[in-house]
Amino acid sequence: MTSREVRELTDQFILPTYGRFSVAIDHGKGARLYDMEGREYVDFTSGIGVCDLGYGCQTWVDAITQQAAKLGHVSNLFYTEPAARLAEILCRRTGMAGAFFANGGGEANEGLIKLARKYSFDRYGKGRATIITLKNSFHGRTITTLKATGQAVFHNYFFPFTEGFRYAEANDLASLEAASGVDVCAVLVELIQGEGGVLPLDREYVTELAKICADRDWLLLVDEVQTGIGRTGTLFAFQQYGIQPDALTFAKGIAGGLPMSGILAGQKCRNVLGPGTHATTFGGNPICAAAALAVQETLNDAFLQEVQRKGQYLRENIEAMDLPCLGKTRGMGLMIGVEVREGNVNRDLASRLIDNGLLVLTAGTGLRLLPPLVITKEEMDEGLARMRKALR
Ligand SMILES: *Cc1c(COP(=O)(O)O)cnc(C)c1O
Repeated sequence: MTSREVRELTDQFILPTYGRFSVAIDHGKGARLYDMEGREYVDFTSGIGVCDLGYGCQTWVDAITQQAAKLGHVSNLFYTEPAARLAEILCRRTGMAGAFFANGGGEANEGLIKLARKYSFDRYGKGRATIITLKNSFHGRTITTLKATGQAVFHNYFFPFTEGFRYAEANDLASLEAASGVDVCAVLVELIQGEGGVLPLDREYVTELAKICADRDWLLLVDEVQTGIGRTGTLFAFQQYGIQPDALTFAKGIAGGLPMSGILAGQKCRNVLGPGTHATTFGGNPICAAAALAVQETLNDAFLQEVQRKGQYLRENIEAMDLPCLGKTRGMGLMIGVEVREGNVNRDLASRLIDNGLLVLTAGTGLRLLPPLVITKEEMDEGLARMRKALR
């Protein structure tokens, strides 16, 4: 098919929930993607932080094909090796005590919310189910995670929403105090707000938040759906903040491009969700788990340090270009936000970059760059050259 045919078929038969760019992607290699006509793009998106090993990575392909030939799926009523091994690795690398596997970020956050409420119910009974989240956050598209998302634009159309959320300003302890109360059971945060604009929380705020949670037996919940799996240059972003969450969620990058997500729970809430309280048919699927094991093998300490250096390199070079439409950069590792200066619209700049062979994302009012973690210097330089040419 041609790109145009793919676009037309999509528009005719797929519900119009996405404002898509006009490109139809056919295949990829490394950090490069190719459309139906073979036109090449440097990818600074990883499909929104998913394809951490890039495209066509041989160890990933082998892991998937070998597992597919062996066993594609079996119910969680039985045991399977890939999920068990993956859970062990994730727990050992994070100091957490147990994993639950699901399929997407929103679904993982639903489970996290259930875990927090049941933890509190088991200890304190009813009436202590409120979760404080942060303004400008993003936690998913289900009815409950939309409500957990601290942006009023998401609290529309789909009434009635799930009750039991209050919102506090990020990096503002007074605002947290104003949202607190005897009905609170947990605080849920992204350490770097992703969709909100790549906005990292301050270290002192996070330290203080962790203390407050520990004092009041509020669970400290971290949504690492976007920041997790090496994206920020450590396996999880919390490891750079000197805290230990009670539970966290991961998704996007976990299986390098296959749908998988999950919860990691600390010792305190390890046994909260007992048999029959939570489940999902595809959770821990052996093919996804095998792909995730290939990702974990790649993401060793030396590789993660490289991620930090690559992020530094991209940010320094973007700022050094001194483009009239772009301002400062922010973020951690290969999760990078670029300020868009007044008088420019991020979506227009993204379109111009894509037309010039560089795929980028927007977030908040800025640009967002989430390149594959395996991106090479040559691929970064090519992307930077295209950025310079497109936005000069
Ligand atoms: C993407 C994202 C989600 C939602 O994940 P889905 O897989 O789209 O359901 C939730 N939280 C954060 C922080 C995200 O970036």
